[in-house]
Amino acid sequence: MTLLGIRNLKVYFYSEDGMVRAVNDVDLDIGEGETLGIIGETGCGKTILGLSILRLLSENTKVEGRILYKGEDLLKLSEDEMRKIRGKEIAMIFQNPLSSMNPVLTIGTQVAEPVELHQHLDNQNAKEKVIEMLKSVRIPLPSKRVNEYPHEFSGGMRQRAMIAMGLICMPSLIIADEPTTGLDVTIQAQIVELMKEVLKDSGTSMLLITHDLGVAAELCDYIAVMYPGEIVEYADVRNIFKNPKHPYTRGFLDSLPGRGLKPIPGISPSLINIPDGCKFHPRCSYATGRCKNERPQMIEVGEKHYVRCFLYD
Ligand code: SF4
Repeated sequence: MTLLGIRNLKVYFYSEDGMVRAVNDVDLDIGEGETLGIIGETGCGKTILGLSILRLLSENTKVEGRILYKGEDLLKLSEDEMRKIRGKEIAMIFQNPLSSMNPVLTIGTQVAEPVELHQHLDNQNAKEKVIEMLKSVRIPLPSKRVNEYPHEFSGGMRQRAMIAMGLICMPSLIIADEPTTGLDVTIQAQIVELMKEVLKDSGTSMLLITHDLGVAAELCDYIAVMYPGEIVEYADVRNIFKNPKHPYTRGFLDSLPGRGLKPIPGISPSLINIPDGCKFHPRCSYATGRCKNERPQMIEVGEKHYVRCFLYD
């Protein structure tokens, strides 16, 4: 069953340099217990897409379309109603716990915040729940470490605490934005393993935002490839890796170590200056006149496999 349905989502705002079209006509579904990865290069709009679901964008941002969570449009809820969703129904795990955690509050106080807010637990019960959560994300000596501050935790341990904070209210959906970026390879692998386990045990769905295809391959059931503001390919994880269709997806895969390390020629357009027609046309070796003038629509090329490219028209 669909847990989250994004329909015709557009997110844009004005900056000093012009209008930033961060998300353009995005449609996506996440089913119960599923993990969907949004992959793309830095600056393609994927973080803004994640933040728009929880309505965490600044007030000058315009968001159009529908974000249906359990059938209810989050864009139509009041701020009070949204507060009841954040952390309880949908939680976010951020990229860099050191900058998203408060340095003057203990880990225990911060991890307890969502349960105190949503489940109205007193201090003692909240602390017990936090210790239990820290234990479940394999933080050693949780009853001691609960009283420590973020700077006393290593990067990997902080990320575990961040995951504990995200899961403490047993949300139905986690939005994880680059949860392993900045960690060394061994710790990264441990965090991926941990996330796999907690998702399996809890049945929580996840929207994973990442530029790291290796992490996406480990954690996701489905992948949506984003190229400045729009989804250009969507498929199950196996098809994305074994049978990629969009020239950008193929180029992205070919640029990886172990798959040729061949960079895509040219650079990604900025979200202020997105080309007309197919946004990939200035970099695509298959581009024709039509690609320059007409925007391709998503075309079904296989079971649950969609691609935005005229080659499959
Ligand atoms: Fe390339 Fe044209 Fe397909 Fe865009 S629509 S990816 S330019 S072939």
